Amino acid sequence: MTYVVTENCIKCKYMDCVEVCPVDCFYMGEATLVINPDECIDCGVCEPECPAEAIKPDTEPGLEGWVAFNSKYAALWPNVTEKGDPPPDAADWDGRSGKLEAVFGASDPGAA
Ligand code: SF4
Ligand code: SF4
Repeated sequence: MTYVVTENCIKCKYMDCVEVCPVDCFYMGEATLVINPDECIDCGVCEPECPAEAIKPDTEPGLEGWVAFNSKYAALWPNVTEKGDPPPDAADWDGRSGKLEAVFGASDPGAA
């Protein structure tokens, strides 16, 4: 199994997660972060650290597309291990629906 970053991280990027990961498997794009499923050791430490509740175990049903999304972008984006500043409008985006569509132009994360 792995943990994955899901839709509510998009445009929030609080980054509380990256500093607790013992294997440094977070990768950062402009709008969101992802976890490399091949590097995650399933420790679960990051999950409660996320203020946006965006980190989920892939044992939850329906997350196959997010596993594909995390895997794809972990190979494209740079590794991140230190917390930076979230976007100034992060709170405005927290909890909004349709963020994947708005930012990545896809309703299915596996197709983003
Ligand atoms: S703490 Fe949550 S919202 Fe912030 S970057 Fe990590 S996954 Fe995204
Ligand atoms: S579950 Fe553990 S290893 Fe996986 S991303 Fe979170 S902190 Fe890192």
